[in-house]
Amino acid sequence: MASLYDTAGIEELRSRNAVQPHRIKLFRTALFKKALGWGAALDTLPETARLDFSNHIEFQSLELLERHDSKTDGASKLIFKTPDQHLIESVILRPKTGRISLCISSQVGCACYCSFCATGMMGFTRNLTCDEILDQVLQASQIVKEEGRSIRNIVFMGMGEPLLNMEHLFSALAILCGPSFFNYAGSRLMVSTVGIPHAMARFSEQFPAVQLALSLHSARQAVREKLMPQARKYTLDVLRETLVEASRNGKVMIEYLLLAGVNDSVEDSQVLTDYLRDIPVHINLIPFNEYSGCNLHGTPLAERKAFADRLKAAGFNTTLRYSLGSDIAAACGQLVQHKNGL
Ligand code: SF4
Repeated sequence: MASLYDTAGIEELRSRNAVQPHRIKLFRTALFKKALGWGAALDTLPETARLDFSNHIEFQSLELLERHDSKTDGASKLIFKTPDQHLIESVILRPKTGRISLCISSQVGCACYCSFCATGMMGFTRNLTCDEILDQVLQASQIVKEEGRSIRNIVFMGMGEPLLNMEHLFSALAILCGPSFFNYAGSRLMVSTVGIPHAMARFSEQFPAVQLALSLHSARQAVREKLMPQARKYTLDVLRETLVEASRNGKVMIEYLLLAGVNDSVEDSQVLTDYLRDIPVHINLIPFNEYSGCNLHGTPLAERKAFADRLKAAGFNTTLRYSLGSDIAAACGQLVQHKNGL
């Protein structure tokens, strides 16, 4: 079986069925750019070739097991099953701006154990393959297409640390940006990391147009280590140098989860602005989504606004984020492998 993304395998099929090259272009356009689904893509091929293509291309790597639609906002959580029976999640976000985003997973579970994240509590099972990463995009695109819309942005902020699955992440990004595949502009893709300096450097070198987001969450080494065990390995000093380098390609997003009594004081905002001084960044302040088994609490809205005002007054582009999908456990930090009894 050839993968949908296996150029050589598809070329072999094309050649043995004497299909004109432009029909393959139509086939890929139907699948990746128009999100029309397998049947419509096959219809672009000569009738004589359809059965051979159908029998020798693996159209789906994931099975869509469940879909949960939020009753309060436009989020949909998709639960997929991998061929080896693991569950992963993706989230379609439909904000009021009309710009639909898709949040996808890069691993089954995660080895980073961030204390604010439900996925981190699961532990790590395995990396997703390139096809499994891309199948989340393909299937979600078809769902959104049925609504007469399309996915504008794709963010690697679901389960897993993408830069610990670099090989498959890089292959997937190349196909997402590839003109004969999904053809996304780099600016519409974002990879979020806990901060792994050597991987961030390689990522910035290979995909300068793709956006990078750093989950910072504190500019104090001790606090960061408590929140994110990976911070013990990669200190704030080293991370700052990497940030300066990465920002040469454009603004880096800084993700900052506001946790009551942990990282939300006046002093915390001061340390943060000192740390980021002179680096072109955009700071996203994220509300914490509580989940059972975690004893952290989110900062109340009024204090989140005050924190944002202090950052803005210090000259930083800052956005106060609101979570979508919290009623279906699809908000940031809530993705978890088991079915959660929705
Ligand atoms: S926040 Fe991201 S890196 Fe940290 S445990 Fe959760 S999935 Fe892993």
